[in-house]
Amino acid sequence: MRILVPVKRVVDYNVKVSVRSDGTGVDITNVKMSMNPFDEIAVEEAVRLKEAGVASEVIVVSAGVAQAQETLRTALAIGADRAILIESSEELQPLAVAKLLKALVDREQPQLIILGKQAIDDDFNQTGQMLAALANLPQATFASKATIADSRAIVSREVDGGSETLSLSLPAVVTTDLRLNEPRYVTLPNIMKAKKKPFETLKPEDLGVDVTPRLKTLKVAEPVKRGAGVKVPDVKTLIEKLKTEAKVL
Ligand code: AMP
Repeated sequence: MRILVPVKRVVDYNVKVSVRSDGTGVDITNVKMSMNPFDEIAVEEAVRLKEAGVASEVIVVSAGVAQAQETLRTALAIGADRAILIESSEELQPLAVAKLLKALVDREQPQLIILGKQAIDDDFNQTGQMLAALANLPQATFASKATIADSRAIVSREVDGGSETLSLSLPAVVTTDLRLNEPRYVTLPNIMKAKKKPFETLKPEDLGVDVTPRLKTLKVAEPVKRGAGVKVPDVKTLIEKLKTEAKVL
C-alpha cells in the first residue's frame, strides 16, 4: 500500500507573528519556518504504518517556494521514502493545492492520503476535504486513531461529547487531529540518510494545473488589545463590581 502525505511549510508555531503595517498580511521576513504540526503527525502516522508492514511506500509532497524542500527533507528524515516538491512562487490557495494533489493522486495511485486537518498559518481547514471531493474519495477528517484492516481504514474522530468511528473503503483521504500520535524526534543519522532519498521537483504546469488565486485578502488585523485591569481592595468590592460592571463578551 502506498501512502501520500502532503506537508506544508508554515511559520513555526513558537513564533509570534506581527501584521504588516499596510494590513495586507503577516510579516514572515526572517521568521523561522517549520513543517505544519498536523502534517508532522500525518508523516509519523504514515511511517508507523510502513514500519508495521501495512504500507510499502510513503511519498511526501509539498507545494510552494523552493525552501519547502527543507520541509520535505524533514519528512524524509522522519522516515518517508521519497519526496515531490511542486515548486511555485504564486500564493497557493487550498483549491489550487487540492487540484495539484488530485493530479498526483492520479499519477501515484496511493491507497491512503493523510493530510493535516489544517495549516496553522491560514487556518483554512479545506484542502483535505476539497481533495476528497475532486478525487471522488471517501474521507475521515480530524482522525484521533486510524487502523487499516481488510482493505478498509477504521478511523476514530473526536466529536462533541464523545468519539465516532468510521469505516472507509480504500483509497481514502484522512486528516489528522492532535491526538493521533506524538511525532518522533528527527535524529542526525536519519537527516543524513534523508539526503540520499529520491527527490523530484515539478512545476504546477507539469501537472496541468492552473494555480491562479481565487481569493483576495482584503485586510488582516491584530486582535483588539486588552485594556488595563484594576485592583480591588476587598472581596466585597469585587462582588459589587462583578454585579454592576462585569459584562459577558
Ligand atoms: P488547509 O486546508 O490550508 O488548512 O491545509 C490542510 C492540509 O492540507 C495541511 O495540513 C497539509 O496537509 C495540506 N496542505 C495545505 N497546503 C499545502 C501545500 N502548499 N503543500 C502541501 N500540502 C498542503
